[in-house]
Amino acid sequence: MADIILKVKDLTKRYDNKPAVAGISFDVKKGEIFGILGPNGAGKTTTLEMIETLRSIDSGKITVAGIDVASKPNEVKKIIGVQPQSPAFQDKQKLSEIIELFAAAYGERVNVQHYLDEVQLGDKADSFAEQLSGGQRQRLSIAAALVHSPKVFFLDEPTTGLDPQARRNLWELVQQVRDTGVTVIITTHYMDEAELLCDRVAIMDNGKIIALDTPKKLIKQLLDKGFKKEQQVEQANLEDVFIDMTGKALRE
Ligand code: ADP
Repeated sequence: MADIILKVKDLTKRYDNKPAVAGISFDVKKGEIFGILGPNGAGKTTTLEMIETLRSIDSGKITVAGIDVASKPNEVKKIIGVQPQSPAFQDKQKLSEIIELFAAAYGERVNVQHYLDEVQLGDKADSFAEQLSGGQRQRLSIAAALVHSPKVFFLDEPTTGLDPQARRNLWELVQQVRDTGVTVIITTHYMDEAELLCDRVAIMDNGKIIALDTPKKLIKQLLDKGFKKEQQVEQANLEDVFIDMTGKALRE
C-alpha cells in the first residue's frame, strides 16, 4: 500500500536462546507519529535497532519505503534519521561545525543556521557542545539527525531526564518534524507523552506486540471492559502548578 512507509513482518531476534523479539508484525503509515511502549526488557530497543540496520535480524522481514533492510542496509540508512539515546558530541566543537560534520557524512552541504534555528539553537551556532544543557543537547542531536532530510525519524526515549519545559518543547519539535512530512517512530516510558503525541501506539511485552491502536481506541477498549478507577475531581495537577509558576519558556 502506498501510504505504508515501514513494514515489519514476523520479526525475531534471540539472545542466548531466549527470544528478545518473538515474531512481531506491524505497519507504520507515512506521516504518523508511531509509539512503541512497553516495560524494560520488552524488546523495544532491539526492534528499533533492527529497523535502523544497527542489529542483525534472525528471521522475518523489514522494509522502509519498500527497501529491504537486511539486503540493502546502506540504502535504508540514507532515508532514516536516528536520534541517539545519549547524544555524544565532541565537547570542543562548535554547534555549527557539528551540523556541518553530520551533513558532510551524508555528502550534503546544508544551511547550518536553518537547522539550528529549527531547534531554537540559532543563537548558539558559535557555542561549544560542552556548554549545552541536557535539553539543548537533545535538540542538537535532533537537528544533526535531520540534516539529510530523512523520511523516517527514530527517537528512543527522547525526554527522559528533561525538565517540564524542555519536555513540552521537545513534543512541539517532534510535531513540527512530523508536519514537514517525516514519519516519526518514538519509544517512551511516559504514557502522558504517548497519549498526547502518538497517532498510534504498539504496546510490547516479552518480545511480542500485545496491542496496537490509537491511544483513544485503546482507552475505550479498556473502559468497555468495565474498567473503573476512582474519579479524580482535580482539574489540575502539580505539573500544572509548576508550569503556571515557572512559565512555559525554555530554561537552560
Ligand atoms: P527494551 O528496549 O524494551 O527495554 P531490549 O530490546 O533492550 O528491551 O531488550 C529485550 C531483551 O533482550 C532483554 O531481555 C535484554 O536483556 C535482551 N538483550 C538486549 N540486548 C542484548 C544483548 N546485546 N545481548 C544479550 N541480551 C540482550
